[in-house]
Amino acid sequence: MKIIPQMEPWIGKEEEREVLKVLRSGWITEAAETRLFERKIADFLGVTYVNVVSNGTVSLTIAILAMGIGKGDEVIVPDFTMVATPNAVILAGATPVLVDIVRDTLCMDLNQVERAITKKTKAIIPVALNGRAPDMEKLMGLAKAHNLEVLEDAAQAFGCKWQGKYLGTFGEIGSFSFSTPKIITTGQGGALVTESKRYHERMIRLKDFGRLVRGSQSHDEIGYNFKFTDLQAAIGVAQMDKLSWRIERKKEMYRLYQQALAGVPEVSFLPTHLDDVSPWFIDVIVSEPKKLAAYLKEKGIETREFYPSIHTTKPYRGVGRFPNSLWATQHGLWLPSSSRLTDSAILRVCREIKAYYSRRT
Ligand SMILES: *Cc1c(COP(=O)(O)O)cnc(C)c1O
Repeated sequence: MKIIPQMEPWIGKEEEREVLKVLRSGWITEAAETRLFERKIADFLGVTYVNVVSNGTVSLTIAILAMGIGKGDEVIVPDFTMVATPNAVILAGATPVLVDIVRDTLCMDLNQVERAITKKTKAIIPVALNGRAPDMEKLMGLAKAHNLEVLEDAAQAFGCKWQGKYLGTFGEIGSFSFSTPKIITTGQGGALVTESKRYHERMIRLKDFGRLVRGSQSHDEIGYNFKFTDLQAAIGVAQMDKLSWRIERKKEMYRLYQQALAGVPEVSFLPTHLDDVSPWFIDVIVSEPKKLAAYLKEKGIETREFYPSIHTTKPYRGVGRFPNSLWATQHGLWLPSSSRLTDSAILRVCREIKAYYSRRT
């Protein structure tokens, strides 16, 4: 029986060729290939400035630091996200303030965001969970009215849009991740996009020992080392050429899952506008995801449970009511989602899900 993974990276001959080219040049740290990768991202998104860094956690951290946010400042983040989002706020020295989500998008509830704003609030981090987004127009308006910065955590939304405009390009800064399970990967990696020259330059200084010009001895600010490598960039350059295809494939896969599971009332899908959204993971809502996951595992099909609500994890345990975040955690399941999956593998997953529910009735 062939195991169907929930997710797997897809590295091919093109990546091999590009990596070999860089390797043979003898220069492997961040240089020309990284600039090429950044240019490809900039062209794809239609943004002015792109800065790639070690990963999608430090990208968020650097963005917060570049905004001048730190000790004593509050940053609003959703209670349902990958734990890197609030952790990056902590790493920057600021305080994450959790808000509940809405069930339709699994993204932050803007009414809750408004309620959470205090004198100490400096920024909002909307997370485009699985490529869906909150009402970005309303969010940007809210931020403007309260003089807050918006840092988009678009780690799961590379290539996704809100009303025709790429996610990551609404806020002052957008952050992406290229970790292994993301839609394209460089093993580890992150990208920061912005239209602000000031923020861009600050973020470059933060990632390279406080200097703007690589190799110079002029350290104008405190900066660290969150640089990339050209070996990773080589993989990224090849992956960028596959991005558009993968975005379309994710949409096709989602449609196929939806059609094949249409007659299964126990399984529901979130409202998803496939013109804008290419769901990176196939997410379904069921009553007892752990039981379904255990059954599928026996059948050689791997799934992934949704993230825990942040406020239930040990470091963040505290007061507050987050009913929708808890609902998502208790009912969500990510089905096999690799863009390498064939249609027949997807149909096998759906057949097993049907078999599971018909067995129980
Ligand atoms: C993956 C992810 C991150 C973290 O990115 P890394 O590159 O793994 O550090 C942050 N936020 C969200 C929403 C993510 O999915």
